Amino acid sequence: MITDPQTDVVIVGGGHNALVAASYLARAGRRVRILERLDHVGGAAVSAHAFEGIDARLSRYSYLVSLLPKRIIDDLGVRVRLARRRYSSYTPDPATGGRTGLLIGPEPTFAAVGAQSDAGPFAEFYRRARIVTTRLWPTMTAPLLTRDDAIKLVLAGGDPEAEETWQALIDRPIGQAIRDAVDSDLVRGVMATDALIGTFAQVDDPSLEQNICFLYHLLGNGTGDWDVPIGGMGAVSGALAAAAAGFGAEITTNAEVYAIDPDGEVCYELDGQPHRVHTEHILAGVTPTVLAELVGDPRPTSAPGAQVKVNLLLRRLPRLRDETVTPEQAFGGTFHINENYSQLDAAYARAATGSIPDPLPCEIYCHSLTDPSILSDELQAAGAQTITVFGLHAPHSLATGADPDRLREDLTSAVLHSLNSVLAEPIQDVLMEDASGRLCIEAKTTQDLEQILGMTAGHIFHGALNWPFVEHDDLLDTPARRWGVATAHDRIVLCGSGSRRGGAVSGLGGHNAAMAVLEG
Ligand SMILES: Cc1cc2nc3c(=O)[nH]c(=O)nc-3n(C[C@H](O)[C@H](O)[C@H](O)COP(=O)(O)OP(=O)(O)OC[C@H]3O[C@@H](n4cnc5c(N)ncnc54)[C@H](O)[C@@H]3O)c2cc1C
Repeated sequence: MITDPQTDVVIVGGGHNALVAASYLARAGRRVRILERLDHVGGAAVSAHAFEGIDARLSRYSYLVSLLPKRIIDDLGVRVRLARRRYSSYTPDPATGGRTGLLIGPEPTFAAVGAQSDAGPFAEFYRRARIVTTRLWPTMTAPLLTRDDAIKLVLAGGDPEAEETWQALIDRPIGQAIRDAVDSDLVRGVMATDALIGTFAQVDDPSLEQNICFLYHLLGNGTGDWDVPIGGMGAVSGALAAAAAGFGAEITTNAEVYAIDPDGEVCYELDGQPHRVHTEHILAGVTPTVLAELVGDPRPTSAPGAQVKVNLLLRRLPRLRDETVTPEQAFGGTFHINENYSQLDAAYARAATGSIPDPLPCEIYCHSLTDPSILSDELQAAGAQTITVFGLHAPHSLATGADPDRLREDLTSAVLHSLNSVLAEPIQDVLMEDASGRLCIEAKTTQDLEQILGMTAGHIFHGALNWPFVEHDDLLDTPARRWGVATAHDRIVLCGSGSRRGGAVSGLGGHNAAMAVLEG
């Protein structure tokens, strides 16, 4: 066993949150080491050359940025550039076999799907939501408020609709607010997806998990805009890694942590050699379940993931059945497929019985339309495009007893089938081939996420999201509890997505863990 020099902070896992935490702590003069088991940092916020011999850097897992506070970017002096998409979303209407659709952008086309009367209420719903989100957003980088204080803060804005909006978004299942606001099944579906991405729930679930997910989707920087990271997600993590190293943090890759002693010893393996390092503080950038295993604590219950991610490289965008919009418009924002409100409900019910939904609700996003820089000059000149599909309601329970390759194939087929239901030509006809003649398509199931990234049960947020405030009887008596990063052990804090406000590419887990350490 090699004993490394003692240090102030060891961060287990090198996801983007770890990089944020390391930057803040090293900037404050702490000796910081990050231990990452893969050969690169970034975790689920990375770009990859996914296809042999093809110079396209795909955001392999996460793809859009909303919740990364400008304050963190400015504090750390990182160069992260984000681009706004021209359109918000496009949703073909399943009732016409995709021959008509709703394009939401500068001039929304509600009339095209027979929902003109929903146009005003739709805009009004999001205007009202901002009464809550703009007030709550600045609290994300501050010690936790109690629910009562959060309500007071929102009401202090003086908006007469604030209380009612709080209740609609936070106290009652979000399905009610959506149904009250608009009538069209399609428009309701567009709104409902924000409550379901990354969460296996129904919009009327009494647990309100879906409301929390909905709130996080609308909260980012007070506006809820989801922007494209220029250069891909790898550029975001790359900038954070450069900042961490610049402040003096030491980053060790290929270093798998296999045991943690809560008294301050971390054991890891590097180049086949066991190492141990003593430290004052341990930050866990891994999931709470992985942390429990490393410490030897009982495994906490953890919500399962419920999605499949499919990345494709196309020779060109496919033609649509809907001839009233161009592919550039449809793929220019979030392209919802088979995500009507009733379809989402039916898909949930089917998935809950252990079957892959048919059709599988999917949403697509085309990075290269907004930011072609992830493609080589040759690919750009040839008109190639990358698209990424996020298939919903594919819960981790489907993996129980399933052959991983077979499940990946079945889910990929379900995604392609869903996609083809709105295209005028099969997507397979426009797929590029890699250097060995294989189709440029890759899928990542919940099993893959668990195996490759250590994301427990493939949950993209390391487990269920929590409200960004606590209940009045929750203890806030230590820095770790006040910042929402506490564990059962004094020296160990969470710094990843599994911390109270940590979900998504936000750096919030890292920021809040660093603040807890610096305050302690
Ligand atoms: C398919 C997918 C799509 C998503 N889309 C979006 C999106 O568009 N926008 C968004 O905001 N969020 C999205 N998310 C969520 C977001 O990517 C994650 O919540 C976030 O990246 C998690 O960051 P993290 O730093 O907390 O942890 P992670 O990125 O999970 O990093 C944890 C790191 O710990 C390492 N590790 C694990 N075990 C050990 C060990 N024993 N020793 C050492 N290292 C270890 C892992 O290798 C990994 O690098 C998506 C996630 C997925 C999976």
